[in-house]
Amino acid sequence: MYPSYYGNNPLFPRKQDFEVIVKDEVVGMGVVCRRAFAKGEVVAALAGEIIHDIRQHSLQVEPGIHLYDIHFSGYFLHSCTPNVELDMKSMLVHAVRDIHPGDYLYMDYAQTEDVLYRQFPCSCGSENCRGWITGRKEQLVECMPDILADLPADKTIR
Ligand SMILES: [Zn+2]
Repeated sequence: MYPSYYGNNPLFPRKQDFEVIVKDEVVGMGVVCRRAFAKGEVVAALAGEIIHDIRQHSLQVEPGIHLYDIHFSGYFLHSCTPNVELDMKSMLVHAVRDIHPGDYLYMDYAQTEDVLYRQFPCSCGSENCRGWITGRKEQLVECMPDILADLPADKTIR
């Protein structure tokens, strides 16, 4: 899935194993698997452009350093109960649950990101869904007007 000038790491994602497709109009593009991965298995090695700003499809390597991979990992979807975890030091993706053909790859964006390009409401449906997704080091900001609007008139936030 990566251009040939990235090299030929055998762990790079292969076209026969994954496909980037539009999941639906709400979440947009996702990466769907065409083969199974067992829990604990390495799903793929990542590559991309190293950038210093946060973009919609970038993943944080460390503060100020981000991987911009528009071929594969940039399209991982978010779930509060993910099926993959990313090790941004080794650039490896591991399955944390069994993954079946037809499953989308789901990471927890707060696993890698201190600050998100954009916070968003989550409807992943998992029991521990956080409802509103932020980076691991940022406050709930954009949802505050909604929270305020939902408060009964006799309650105020000081
Ligand atoms: Zn969720």
